[in-house]
Amino acid sequence: MSNSTKYVFVTGGVASSLGKGIIAASLAKLLQARGYSTTIQKLDPYINIDPGTLNPYEHGECYVTDDGAETDLDLGHYERFLNVKTSQANNITTGRIYQSVINKERKGEYLGKTVQVIPHVTDEIKQSIQELGKNGEYDIIITEIGGTVGDIESLPYVEAVRQMLWEFEDDCIVIHLTLIPYLAAAGELKTKPTQHSVKALLELGVQPDVLCCRTEHELELNLRKKIAKFCNVAPEAVIESRDASSIYEVPLLMQEEELDVVVLKKLGLSRKSSPDLDDWKQFLEKLHQPKTEINLGLIGKYVELKDAYKSINEALIHAGATNLCKVNIQWIHSEKLTKKNVASKLDKLDAILVAPGFGSRGITGKLAAVQFARENKIPFLGICLGMQCAVIEFARHVLGWDDAHTVEISPESKRPVISLMEEQKSISDLGGTMRLGAYKCELKPDSNIYEAYNREVINERHRHRFEFNSSYLEDFEKSGMIATGKNPDTGLVEVVEITDHPWFVGVQFHPEYKSTVAKPHPLFVAFVKAAIDAKK
Ligand code: GLN
Repeated sequence: MSNSTKYVFVTGGVASSLGKGIIAASLAKLLQARGYSTTIQKLDPYINIDPGTLNPYEHGECYVTDDGAETDLDLGHYERFLNVKTSQANNITTGRIYQSVINKERKGEYLGKTVQVIPHVTDEIKQSIQELGKNGEYDIIITEIGGTVGDIESLPYVEAVRQMLWEFEDDCIVIHLTLIPYLAAAGELKTKPTQHSVKALLELGVQPDVLCCRTEHELELNLRKKIAKFCNVAPEAVIESRDASSIYEVPLLMQEEELDVVVLKKLGLSRKSSPDLDDWKQFLEKLHQPKTEINLGLIGKYVELKDAYKSINEALIHAGATNLCKVNIQWIHSEKLTKKNVASKLDKLDAILVAPGFGSRGITGKLAAVQFARENKIPFLGICLGMQCAVIEFARHVLGWDDAHTVEISPESKRPVISLMEEQKSISDLGGTMRLGAYKCELKPDSNIYEAYNREVINERHRHRFEFNSSYLEDFEKSGMIATGKNPDTGLVEVVEITDHPWFVGVQFHPEYKSTVAKPHPLFVAFVKAAIDAKK
């Protein structure tokens, strides 16, 4: 059977956290730079319908797409590397697969058959993979299988891959990402775990075509030959993947290793031109040759786990490069911040960012950070809950409303300056029910936000239940906190700024999701610039 779309599967072995997402995104970047339209998909073997209900400690940030899907953070890497938007179809979980199978069963669509993992669940997985290719939009679809080969929960996915390899023959290949550990005592790199991991794949009927080997030391030719011999792959298909100083170096490292060349050859595709990576290299040059630096405090309650703020971290890297500025992020735990110690902890900072979040943990620290930034005229960006904190702090200390709060934390507050959105009032389920995805926002001229975007209408992604309570807007504006961005259809306040401050912006949306290497986000670029200016 022939198929115009080509499929590349990426599996992982030996250990988790080897960076399948980055390898997949880097390969996609190289193929895209050669003129192939490419997309990436992540299959997650957990039973949650999506990561929206997961605590960030479990799985890092929840990444939101334009169409309002709550997805795995790897989709953020895909968008940042490719500058192409992803959607719900780019992230499938076991929960979603089973939900669809069970719904079909209830509708009688299986015509009296016993519904089984094979073929019904595997068919559903195969369909989800092919769904992305159905409009002929993509030449190549890279599908990353979450988890590690050998896990019970990823078995149906590997089986689906086996079936597709059989059905689509030359149009599918498998890249297996493994670890080559270095044993210091022996002074040697060890290939046995990789051999075992390939064996585990073979037991499931899948022969990998390419092995990407994570290693801390050079993989010499004799080792590559050894791995090739034991794992039935060509020596040139044994790719070394060394630790890089930045994830944005990985496409270039993979190019040096000719990962794209091997993949195209295996898929029977021509190399077209050599990859055009000029813009990418320019970005790296700027990243590595900063002319100045700033210290930026990121205040959040998950700062022990940097993955919880992945997109913010990356957006700051993009914005730093644009400004030729090294952004040193100081990760500050909101629970450890109090009114008493806030000055000593934040006074060396050139900029303060209060992060998104849910619930009451760490809220006092966030409010203290906002107050410190406001009173000391330090450039400030508040995102989602961070913006809501800016509103609460202003109400308490400028308007003098001591018990002003968000009803999320204090439902009894007499001054609910942040209240539940009307459409949220009848909702009780937690999964997938927030205000999600892209909404328009109209900006007020002569504001910092307008200056950043340089346009009147923007489109940004949301993930929240609570909103600025517009019944108080007049009081706020009279005292100097202005709504500089509103949803043109509903009037919801999406952006607030303080007039008597050089750069104080709170946004209800999440600008971080849309920052890419090709298009660093204008709001982060302006924020970093404001910090550089303030430092001068
Ligand atoms: N908890 C707040 C809300 O639901 C903010 C959410 C967020 O920061 N993403 O409105």
